[in-house]
Amino acid sequence: MALTRLDQLYRQVILDHSSHPHHHGTLAEATNQVEMNNPTCGDVIELQLKMKDNCIKEIRFSGSGCTISTASASMMTDAVLGKTLEEALALADQFSLLVQGKDLENLDDLGDAAILSGVAKFPARIRCATLAWKGLEKALATTNEIKTNEKD
Ligand code: ZN
Repeated sequence: MALTRLDQLYRQVILDHSSHPHHHGTLAEATNQVEMNNPTCGDVIELQLKMKDNCIKEIRFSGSGCTISTASASMMTDAVLGKTLEEALALADQFSLLVQGKDLENLDDLGDAAILSGVAKFPARIRCATLAWKGLEKALATTNEIKTNEKD
């Protein structure tokens, strides 16, 4: 019974994020951007970041996806906004382990995204949940390239 109520609460949080996604839209002056798609489900996410002083100063996403991919993108933007590149990549690692069913000791930094741990029970939905986080990793990887080029 208790578990069912908890599941309902989690479901409501996921539905709230998907129907009213946080940081949804586009950035006029993005420093990093990627487009990600998950052909298995048909999810498409465009992710834009504005990096400054090694920090994520702004983040927006757009596109169209299922409930899980949209909620996950919304939760991801909440978790990484204001974080450094290294902190954001560490969170992406944590999230990846979480949806693979690993027990993590401290989930506080993931915020609402920690709720998606239940996705581990539904392998077909794992790609939906990780799409935005993979996009984040890919977008941040382009920062490294820019940095390297600047040094040259
Ligand atoms: Zn999906």
